Amino acid sequence: MGSRFCNDSIASTLKQLNKQNSRRNLASLLHHKQTKKASVHPTTPVVTRFAPSPTGSLHIGSLRTALYNFLLARNTNGKFILRLEDTDRTRLVPGAEENIYDTMKWCNFGIDEGPIKQSERTAIYAKYIKVLLGKGYAYRCFCSKEKLDASRLDGYDRHCLNLTEAEIADNMKKSDGKFIIRFKAPDKYESFDDLLHGQVNIQDRKDRVGYDDPVLIKSDGMPTYHFANVVDDHLMGVTHVIRGEEWLPSTPKHIMLYKAFGWTPPKFVHIPLLTSVESDKKLSKRKNDASVLGLQQKGILPEALVNFCALLGWAPPRDIAQKNRECFTLDELEKLFSLDHLTKGNVKVDNSKLLFFNKHFLQKRIENESQLAELVSQVTPRVSEKFSIENDTTLQDKVRLILKDCGHCLTTTNEFEGMFAYFFAEPDYSQQSDETQRLFQETGKDQVLAILRALGQDVNADTVQSQITEVTKNLGVKKRTVFQALRFAVSGEVSGAKIHIMLAILGAEESNNRIAKTITNIESM
Ligand code: GLU
Repeated sequence: MGSRFCNDSIASTLKQLNKQNSRRNLASLLHHKQTKKASVHPTTPVVTRFAPSPTGSLHIGSLRTALYNFLLARNTNGKFILRLEDTDRTRLVPGAEENIYDTMKWCNFGIDEGPIKQSERTAIYAKYIKVLLGKGYAYRCFCSKEKLDASRLDGYDRHCLNLTEAEIADNMKKSDGKFIIRFKAPDKYESFDDLLHGQVNIQDRKDRVGYDDPVLIKSDGMPTYHFANVVDDHLMGVTHVIRGEEWLPSTPKHIMLYKAFGWTPPKFVHIPLLTSVESDKKLSKRKNDASVLGLQQKGILPEALVNFCALLGWAPPRDIAQKNRECFTLDELEKLFSLDHLTKGNVKVDNSKLLFFNKHFLQKRIENESQLAELVSQVTPRVSEKFSIENDTTLQDKVRLILKDCGHCLTTTNEFEGMFAYFFAEPDYSQQSDETQRLFQETGKDQVLAILRALGQDVNADTVQSQITEVTKNLGVKKRTVFQALRFAVSGEVSGAKIHIMLAILGAEESNNRIAKTITNIESM
């Protein structure tokens, strides 16, 4: 990956940057006492872009970047562009491009322009590299791959910086027309203004003996990330670039490129790194729990994921936060989003929060008739297959009823078949949960048996409450114990849906058969 700094370099520049930031934080806090922090949120329509490289399934970090760029565009009535940075042909992963489109659609991020593929714009980059070559800001380099590999750490010795026309022609012959084009980097990079971090000063590694001189055009003729990114952001009129902090070391190079062209750079916002809640380390892209597709397969809803990602580095305005409101739809986020409420500092990704949002939005879908119908059509085929029941209207109605009456117990619809298996097949009473075992240990099997016998053979949804009250009184047991015994007989579990709902969905006949069977089972224990 010649176009990016090596990891050590990123780590050290970020460390350096953090040091600067902690000083800056202190300074801005002191400053804050006297003056209100000036707003950095744009007041006129912006142009933003999401510029992923199709190198794998989208990660929640990238989704957050897409979301913030999308929200900023919508919030200011601006434009949101989708641009595929696919010029590094060696890193392309089959299916990654489709995964980007599918995810944008799934999350309902409307794209105003694009997708634009950089790989289809090589003529444009060829035109603009000529400008830099002409101005002396770029030069052809014919050095061997071995030499370049060796110079990766120490820097480049600028062997090819001042080649004459004749030397270039000669090298062209020797290299079979193959060369790269480098940017003549300044000795010192200019500091730049980041809307979140303030003034940022990142210099290339000081211990480097050679020069940075980043590659702009690779030997295959393709532009590097730096070059294509700058040319495109300029040509596409991008006004605001929101991207992850890992791109901070690239920004000084980009600024110098803008300068070389005589262009005004966009405004930059580098959003904090996502770290794992367990290890405090950078969130691994390889782990499936951070991949959008993986989460989708686990039954996570787009509304939940969007809400979750929105809060990974942004907080709602104080009046809303004070009301402890944290669930927001995309429409609400579009209105509320502001660059003034972005947060600094690494963000811990806590997936239990994602599940909380999922439960919330799943319930919202259940309460909406057309979305409920969609859920039914997703869940029923799985139920049909698992329990070998025909997928007909009877089954669909049953699934709908369960979702409506018991759906609040679900965190994701993937849990449906497991959690509500007893509605479709007789439970396996021998598989006892800890809670069930506790019922038998604490209450004793004779008492459970007595409760079930006392309930009789005519338990049904309409009368069950009074039947339970009566048994509680007659046997002198706790109401909770009667509920648990009955639930166990009907569902194989002592907790779960409300008992009258369980009985109504199962039907009186099936419910009473199960009670009778449980009595026989316990008798033979
Ligand atoms: N192609 C880069 C990425 O994959 C884009 C970085 C940027 O936004 O400039 O994240």
